[in-house]
Amino acid sequence: MLNIVLFGPPGAGKGTQSERLKEKYGLVHISTGDVFRALNPESELGKLAKSYSDKGNLVPDEVTIEILEAEVSKHPNAKGVIYDGFPRTKAQAEALDKFLNAKGTSVSMMLSLVVPEDELKTRLIARAEVSGRKDDADPEIIQNRINTYNSSTAPVANFYIGQNKLHEIDGVGSIDDITQRLYDIIDA
Ligand code: ADP
Repeated sequence: MLNIVLFGPPGAGKGTQSERLKEKYGLVHISTGDVFRALNPESELGKLAKSYSDKGNLVPDEVTIEILEAEVSKHPNAKGVIYDGFPRTKAQAEALDKFLNAKGTSVSMMLSLVVPEDELKTRLIARAEVSGRKDDADPEIIQNRINTYNSSTAPVANFYIGQNKLHEIDGVGSIDDITQRLYDIIDA
């Protein structure tokens, strides 16, 4: 199984590039952010997730891990999975390892998109126009998401460095160029 963790700060282009990788390699794309946004906003779980995501805070690990595992389990015959926006904490990374090991598989690689903070903010503000996402529209919430990334999520890369699985990719340039950089690493 090809299990790709696509990593990077908010606005790095994970969703856009996931669509390309999914097509080319026939993978299932799982974005925990998308899963949370698709929950019924009237349900308890939907309300809970929204109370965190609208402010740019992480949804608690227990809930996130359970949701992720349920999502993966919907695709028992997948050739592989792109994990987009998961794991975002060390506890999530450990849970994913355990979950995949129990299935006799493991994370193949972490592809980390590197984009400077100024560029991220410009992209997210522009995205707010089309996404209608509350967390894209407010500069304070964007800053909180970036800070949360730096404090809680960026260290997750160390977990994969320890396993020799981290690849950093320059996430600035044309969408096509960045896709090609990702293909080159996956095909190597
Ligand atoms: P972005 O990467 O652009 O910030 P996402 O769509 O990946 O946006 O996530 C939106 C929100 O969903 C996050 O700010 C967070 O509240 C929640 N979320 C998504 N994935 C996770 C995760 N793995 N752990 C905790 N919260 C998450």
